[in-house]
Amino acid sequence: MATEAKDQKYPFELPALEYDFDALEPVIDAETMRLHHDKHHQAYVDNLNKAVEQHRDLHGKTLSELLSGLDGVPEEVRGAVRNNGGGHINHSMFWTIMKSGGGKPSGDLATAIDGAFGSFDDFKTKFNDAGVKQFGSGWVFVTTASGGKLEIASQPNQDTPFHRGVEPLLGNDVWEHAYYLKYNNRRPDYLKAWWDTVDWDAIAQRYERLRAE
Ligand code: MN
Repeated sequence: MATEAKDQKYPFELPALEYDFDALEPVIDAETMRLHHDKHHQAYVDNLNKAVEQHRDLHGKTLSELLSGLDGVPEEVRGAVRNNGGGHINHSMFWTIMKSGGGKPSGDLATAIDGAFGSFDDFKTKFNDAGVKQFGSGWVFVTTASGGKLEIASQPNQDTPFHRGVEPLLGNDVWEHAYYLKYNNRRPDYLKAWWDTVDWDAIAQRYERLRAE
């Protein structure tokens, strides 16, 4: 299995999609997936490599170390590492928490969602609301606080919870490139439909891992 983006060191690599471009139809169309993975994500990887290439002192650091220690990144490439490193780590998570067909959370994760938000429906409403309110480009994440308690946090651009040393449990991309071909300006429709592609088995595995760390 390829090294996860967070554990990669220079040179960084685009992870292969584990499903076909059309696997998430009709929620996410194949053309959006192809552009999003092969062009947008690839560009973040390429630009991250360009930024880090000349700075050999950064070559020994993992992507999660770079993003949680931006003060230690030379100023002339700090913005590029922040934006493109964030883009690489966020999208690498995003591809792995979706699958054809989706489903519903169960077990400890379902209990945690109910405990933090009231119910699965309330959780989705709050998450979608955060996505609609994110002005311009950004992400909506769910993170696990101490004790495994779940929290929703939206962040602008390609910023990521990794900046504060926190790995997100899940997240949805609300950049226009994630939905515009099919949903045009209707971001709320995309946010609502997205739940039908969410791979709750993959997220449950992440939850177990994050709680154990
Ligand atoms: Mn994106």
